[in-house]
Amino acid sequence: MFPRLNIDLNKVYENTKYFVNSCEKEDINLMAVTKVFCADTKVAQKQVEAGVKYLADSRIQNLIKMKDIDVEKVLMRLPMHSEVEKVVKYADISFNTEISTIKKLDLEAKKQNKKHKILIMLDLGDLREGILPKDIDSVVEEIIKLENIKIAGFGVNLTCYGGIIPSDKNLGKLAEISERLSNKFNLDLEIISGGNSSSLFLIEKNNMPSKINNLRLGEAIVLGRETAYGNDVKGTCNDIFILEAEVIELKTKDSVPTGEIGMDAFGNTPTFEDKGKILRGILAVGQQDVNPDGLTPLNDKIEILGASSDHLLLNLEETDKNFKVGDTIKFKLDYGALLQLSTSEYVDTHYIE
Ligand SMILES: *Cc1c(COP(=O)(O)O)cnc(C)c1O
Repeated sequence: MFPRLNIDLNKVYENTKYFVNSCEKEDINLMAVTKVFCADTKVAQKQVEAGVKYLADSRIQNLIKMKDIDVEKVLMRLPMHSEVEKVVKYADISFNTEISTIKKLDLEAKKQNKKHKILIMLDLGDLREGILPKDIDSVVEEIIKLENIKIAGFGVNLTCYGGIIPSDKNLGKLAEISERLSNKFNLDLEIISGGNSSSLFLIEKNNMPSKINNLRLGEAIVLGRETAYGNDVKGTCNDIFILEAEVIELKTKDSVPTGEIGMDAFGNTPTFEDKGKILRGILAVGQQDVNPDGLTPLNDKIEILGASSDHLLLNLEETDKNFKVGDTIKFKLDYGALLQLSTSEYVDTHYIE
């Protein structure tokens, strides 16, 4: 069945292993972040085999999907009050910043006869989730009164909303605050989590504060790319996930539409470059599955012209034109494309083992 997402499980293992090893040298363990591939269990299982200490996701549904994989599960998005029961049941650790939510988790944990671990997020400038440093002492003071909650650690999220680059300064502050609170409140901290794929370059530059002992890696593992500067990570592959879609029409036609140009399917007025007559291919995949801007054809002679909801239009004029209807064409993906394709129920999954 096409379109399909081809997933190379050996490459999943190799990329994961690469980061497990390089971070281990700095005494940093890993949360493999599974949200971008919707917590596909075969992929997650490979990541555990490669040595990640935790599986982490933003959505409780994805943690439920992975419940039979034998490793600690982490809910990385702040829990909604309405999902507290499931969070205590299926997440070993959840990220938190709101005392009202933490109190609900405490009550629910008591009901389920469990201790629930939380990781407290600090806002060090990126302005997404996080308690401000000036407020942290009073919040911790309240949390330690809760019998069924254990503070597993502290963390920070950067380069997500505000685009703030991790540094020895802001991560140093995380380390310093964590240590100070640990001493003040006698906390037994398991995790000091220094961010996501945008923090990796600090290891390379020998600038990672030594107290940081955890990173949460999504994009770096699945696309072989660090995200502070968008560089490919040498020694990893960037073709674990490949979109393969099928040709349903192949004809030589004009490169500019004929007639008065109004709006396209999405209300935009398109413009066209006149390249004369070209060999045009149509693939059975469209905007409902993926934004074509996130696709890169493996054959670099293929040009993507655009897409409507269900059709992807290609210029095949510069290729050797050796195509037939029914053939398939393959593409590399960026983060957004992988997220969308993993989420589309019209896209099949094919494992390469
Ligand atoms: C998505 C997410 C990550 C992973 O980010 P990548 O850039 O894919 O490594 C880490 N932490 C949190 C809180 C997230 O939401």
